[in-house]
Amino acid sequence: MNPSIYGLTKADLEAWLLDHQEKKFRATQVWEWLYEKRVQSFGEMTNLAKSLIEKLEANFVINPLKQIVVQEAKDGTVKYLFELPDKMMIETVLMRQEYGMSVCVTTQVGCNIGCTFCASGLLRKQRDLTAGEITAQIMLVQRYFDEKGQGERVSHVVVMGIGEPFDNYDNVMQFIHIINDAKGLAIGARHITVSTSGLARKIRQFADNGLQVNLAISLHAPNNEVRSSMMRINKSYPIEELMDAVAFYLEKTNRRITFEYIMLHEVNDRPEHAHQLAELLQDKKKLAYVNLIPYNPVSEHDQYSRSDKADVLKFYDILKKRGINCVIRKEHGTDIDAACGQLRSKQLKKAKSKRNAS
Ligand code: SAH
Ligand code: SF4
Repeated sequence: MNPSIYGLTKADLEAWLLDHQEKKFRATQVWEWLYEKRVQSFGEMTNLAKSLIEKLEANFVINPLKQIVVQEAKDGTVKYLFELPDKMMIETVLMRQEYGMSVCVTTQVGCNIGCTFCASGLLRKQRDLTAGEITAQIMLVQRYFDEKGQGERVSHVVVMGIGEPFDNYDNVMQFIHIINDAKGLAIGARHITVSTSGLARKIRQFADNGLQVNLAISLHAPNNEVRSSMMRINKSYPIEELMDAVAFYLEKTNRRITFEYIMLHEVNDRPEHAHQLAELLQDKKKLAYVNLIPYNPVSEHDQYSRSDKADVLKFYDILKKRGINCVIRKEHGTDIDAACGQLRSKQLKKAKSKRNAS
């Protein structure tokens, strides 16, 4: 299948048009059809010459994704399972927040980081998604709104679906440029958050890129022993190295960083862990925000269970008393397998058991 035209920035499209003996300004027209009118085929671009439409059709597709499952939760969270042209599956989640409509996108099929609590890491990385395939996820959620006809719009994006975004750095950055374009979807950089498991070198590169995009770090533990037991990546980039990269990012950007911390019963939720975490963030506390996240149980990882409410509150209190910004994150769509990777892994299991039965 041809690549998706959603993977081109406007400048890329202009260059492509010039290369194909077309006028540069056609890019503005194509862009309008794609991101304002949101057409599904090149044939609908009625102000373009037939010859240009044919060139576009011969080189690109618009939407590379097929919608397989859509699940709506009681709280309005919607989860989509999409099939890629090579039949692999990915998921995308829409969360209704007080501040707008936030979409969580997938960046890779599977994930090589293999964190021991995560459903996405159960499958090793099969491949990176292209920028077009990541952008298409946003476009399909936007189309879902368009069909409802209530004028709703994707306003926020979190790069927190399946995959490690910094292990697919160039495509993720290209995607951010595309959705950020003021003449396109115009999703403000401050409304975009990228979450990483802690690839320190890429955190430094990200700090240097000059975009106002938010960064979240999946910290999940306050010391190397606990973190290494949960996240293999900690062996390559131990906490000291990660914190050096964080310090570099803070100095360079002066932007706040979110530290994600999944609360796991008796693994990382003891008062001493809260004190260690406060120590770790002490010199960064003006710009550090800790998100305490309820664990979404994954059946394959039954060594973990959710922290008790009282332990979460105690942990929160210790951080607060020590001057660390902290929130206990609300859950979204617990009734629909909302932890990233869960819907996909369930669907694959279903398909497998069907195959075995026949
Ligand atoms: N690979 C990146 C982004 C995708 S994971 C990263 O790890 O940051 C997005 C977030 O979901 C991470 O903070 C991750 O730790 C968290 N997560 C993974 N499995 C989870 C689970 N079972 N319950 C709650 N959060 C989970
Ligand atoms: Fe990969 Fe993030 Fe899951 Fe770890 S938490 S396995 S890095 S998707």
